[in-house]
Amino acid sequence: MTAVKLPAIPAWYQHCPGYIHDLYPICANTQNGLGASRRHLMEELHQQQRQGKANMHAAQLQLIASSGGADSGVSGYDSGPTLLQLGMQPNPLCEQLPVFDLSLYLNASADQAAQADVQRVCAALASCLQRCSALVVRDPRVDTRDNDTFLSLLERYFNQPLADKMRDVRADVAYQVGATPEGVEKPRCLRDASIVAHAEGLAAGDRPCLPTEADPKWRFFWRVGSRPVSTQYPELNTAPVVPAAFPEWRQVMDSWGGKLLSTVATVAEMAARGFGLDPAAFTSRMHNAPHLLAPTGADLDKHGQLGTVIAGFHTDLNFLTIHGRSRYPGLHIWLADGRRIPVRIPEGCLLLQAGKQMEWLTGGAVKAGYHEVLCTQETLAAADKARAEGRPVWRVSSTVFSQIASDEVLVPLGRFADSPGVAAAYPPTPAGQQVAAELQMINLMATGRGAVRVVNVLCTAMASDTAAAAVDTTLNPRVASLKPSKTMALTDLATRLKEEGQDIIGLAAGEPDFDTPAPIIEAGVEALRLGYTRYTPNTGTSALRKAICAKLSSENGVKYDPDQVVVSNGAKQCIWQALLAVCSPDDEVIIPAPFWVSYPEMARLAGASPVIVSSSPEEGFKLTPEALQAALTPRSRLLILCTPSNPTGAVYTREELEALAQVVAGHPRLLVLSDEIYEYIVYSPAKHYSFATLPGMYDRTLTVNGFSKAYAMTGWRLGYLAAPRHFAKAAAVIQSQSTSGASSIAQHAAVTALGMGPQGGPLVQEMIRAFEERRDYVTQRLQQMPGVRLAAPQGAFYVMPEVSAFVGPGVEAKGWGPVPDVDALCRYLVEVGNVALVPGDAFGAPTCIRISYAASLDTLAKALDRVAAALASDNFAGI
Ligand code: PMP
Repeated sequence: MTAVKLPAIPAWYQHCPGYIHDLYPICANTQNGLGASRRHLMEELHQQQRQGKANMHAAQLQLIASSGGADSGVSGYDSGPTLLQLGMQPNPLCEQLPVFDLSLYLNASADQAAQADVQRVCAALASCLQRCSALVVRDPRVDTRDNDTFLSLLERYFNQPLADKMRDVRADVAYQVGATPEGVEKPRCLRDASIVAHAEGLAAGDRPCLPTEADPKWRFFWRVGSRPVSTQYPELNTAPVVPAAFPEWRQVMDSWGGKLLSTVATVAEMAARGFGLDPAAFTSRMHNAPHLLAPTGADLDKHGQLGTVIAGFHTDLNFLTIHGRSRYPGLHIWLADGRRIPVRIPEGCLLLQAGKQMEWLTGGAVKAGYHEVLCTQETLAAADKARAEGRPVWRVSSTVFSQIASDEVLVPLGRFADSPGVAAAYPPTPAGQQVAAELQMINLMATGRGAVRVVNVLCTAMASDTAAAAVDTTLNPRVASLKPSKTMALTDLATRLKEEGQDIIGLAAGEPDFDTPAPIIEAGVEALRLGYTRYTPNTGTSALRKAICAKLSSENGVKYDPDQVVVSNGAKQCIWQALLAVCSPDDEVIIPAPFWVSYPEMARLAGASPVIVSSSPEEGFKLTPEALQAALTPRSRLLILCTPSNPTGAVYTREELEALAQVVAGHPRLLVLSDEIYEYIVYSPAKHYSFATLPGMYDRTLTVNGFSKAYAMTGWRLGYLAAPRHFAKAAAVIQSQSTSGASSIAQHAAVTALGMGPQGGPLVQEMIRAFEERRDYVTQRLQQMPGVRLAAPQGAFYVMPEVSAFVGPGVEAKGWGPVPDVDALCRYLVEVGNVALVPGDAFGAPTCIRISYAASLDTLAKALDRVAAALASDNFAGI
């Protein structure tokens, strides 16, 4: 045999999966080399395969047999394009795993030549999965900057106090949503002797570090995508948990999780084609599956010793696992041939590894990939870097577990079913059953109800410093996941600093700084003297409800009868009762962001899911009809509108409301809660319109209003709901079984308030003029500050400047520390500038801060001087 002259082969080809690797030695040994006839080559291949020398897959043989012209030899290497040209690139960081660029597949035209190229790449990808149980891909749709946002969010999440995270633990559904505390998940190698035997059978240098105890890592499971309408496995398909302190959670998690899942779907399709299966063979089984964005979090301040096993040797139970880059190296994977390699993912790339479900569907042709996470020198170096940058030192992984739907049956597909022994090794099994068995094995799913209860009690006890051993302190999960108010947290910090003697100006609170107008106070005193000291009717005194109806008719142009009005202890109670009255479990409540902090929490407490729809300063912080339309699903039940808005001061025009009403009208289940509590505080030329007056909207609108803001009566606790009878009645029943009627004294005084004249009369108008003067002053000052963007407020007493110029990775306030987000910026402003403001993330606006200008002009001037000085660009590095 004459060796032919071959083009130089780069080093990475040596380990390159796919048929190039298989063909190269064969070509080198054939007489005609690259020009070998196809027939000759096929004979060689079959021969070598029979002798076990070439690890060729039948699909690849078929591919080669059918590719190229009559005698063109190996198409794709000599006359056709190389895999290199087809988007498969060397991986300088990990030569065993070349990078597959998915662009070719995603952009391929339907013509024959392009499809032939696609088939080549798919075969190479399938082969790579077989050889390595892993793949590295670049996906043009996935912007890995989203990974950074995700990692920062999860670092903050895991860095929370233990008790906050414990609120998100759902042991009763096998932790398949929410948090799993460290020390709970046991790697399979602790429980499965066959895994230990497998590990011991590996070459000395390739053996894992077998742990002796449960993994010291936290986990968060966030379910991405839709859930099945009915399933035999409800515990694997429950609604996701949204952690308390992170309004941006859903958006960040869905965005990054969704992107990783789209990559998985493409890879699944390509692999199916590469294996000669129907392209939808895998993806058709993945609809409504429990796909989980599943970051782990290891506290390296606590567990950062060299050699610590963060995740013990195991395979994943799911179909394909996909990883974005972690900020901390440490992941090691095993190739199908038993070699252990540290994973290095090039910038912009993603790593996939096959799980048990893929092994099942391919009858073992692709083996689930083993992996472990260790604390290495490089992990520790990354931890030092995080410390130096002031970031929380948590190793967070960026992982999605894609799954086969719980009710689908796992069974070897297509020709994989024909291989001998496969039927016995991979018997038909519902995916939900396979998952449940694995979860029991790794200690996530307790067997038997009693065990689950024990885990629950233990978890809660861990969360509570004072929990006595014998007391089950389990809380209603809905209550346990409630988020405390950020406004309160900042106010607390400001109070503490004040107590330490610092001169702090607080612009965080949401109440007028004026006293209640004198006639109302007099009426309150009179109420006491006249003996209005007893229970009132549940829904309010007849005098007050009549006065409210008169006001709504004359000022707002909307007619209600007194039996459509429910007076409660503040508008807050009205909103809560309205949500509780109309939302069924799993209904969605659409909340335009920036939003008033209580809306999402109340929706959750009512058992519904808040759906946050963002808007920008350029959109005037207003919901657009297009954004509303895009957010609607069959589960949408309630849209909450707040105009004038807390926290942005935005006021919708009638045209804007009409455009939204048109969208609402197209969705029969959708109701609107119109929070009009800032109604009187609008600045000309803006005008307030009640949503119930829009064509067709009366029957769908629940109008909420109150006395707190308009009449400076926050402490009197009085608000009202006016709604179609059916809904008003439901709210009244809730109230009758909880608080009963509102304060008799406040109600008596409120009748006087409503009698003070249209738009509150002269005393209220005087307050509003003061607010307007302050609005003008504050906006003008903020507009002068470089880096601050503003949507000019037209109502309420808040302004929400966009301050992204002062926050982000690498931004530092000199002499103070890193300012990664608005939370840090607000801490900086209170500690250095001595002004307390509220970070916008509490309102679903993570690049904004909220300033309340319910303070005197003198105070505002002093506060804004301080803010301007603190935000001077000289004080920052990295902006
Ligand atoms: N809605 C909005 C938008 C608010 O800002 C507030 C008070 N901050 C309320 C409702 C509740 O008001 P209250 O319970 O005092 O009537």
